[in-house]
Amino acid sequence: MNYQLLVNDKHPIAKTDMEKITLIPVIERNQIFYLEKKVAKQYLKLKRKVLRKTGVIIALDSAYRSIEEQQCLMEEMIQEYGVDYVSNYVAKPYTSEHHTGMAIDLTIYYQGKYLTNNFELEKAYEEFCKIYPFLGHYGFVLRYPKGKESITNIPFEMWHIRYVGVKVAKKLKKRKHVLEQYKRKL
Ligand SMILES: [Zn+2]
Repeated sequence: MNYQLLVNDKHPIAKTDMEKITLIPVIERNQIFYLEKKVAKQYLKLKRKVLRKTGVIIALDSAYRSIEEQQCLMEEMIQEYGVDYVSNYVAKPYTSEHHTGMAIDLTIYYQGKYLTNNFELEKAYEEFCKIYPFLGHYGFVLRYPKGKESITNIPFEMWHIRYVGVKVAKKLKKRKHVLEQYKRKL
């Protein structure tokens, strides 16, 4: 499995790549999410570690999305947030990392509930910051960090993490690079 598969507005995912991905279900909060097999295992380890070390409860808000689900999501988000917001934040079908099963939108349990609205999530930024130091050890990176917007073409998303494998995650963190920069160097 190519855990460094680059999917963005310039690199839409190929149907053949999507077919190679083995997805497994992860049940949380009475919902079924799907993640790539290894990514699911690593996510669950990350979740346990974060809870043990910081007390922060993380959960999946979004994981794998099919092309059709991305299309629906885009339409729903337009209803909720408006066209301008969505054109910045929601990737068009085929250009979302969520098609790989290696990307996760996290939610956290905060002040008595799981946050799912983007504006609520932004208020819990300090809690999210407690999670970040643990990502690399399990092969995850914060995929759309602050200061890299001109490279990723996506505004800072505190909740979107991506599995790239432990070695690459550590390398990216050390060099303060995003996946686009890593791929360019290869
Ligand atoms: Zn996401």
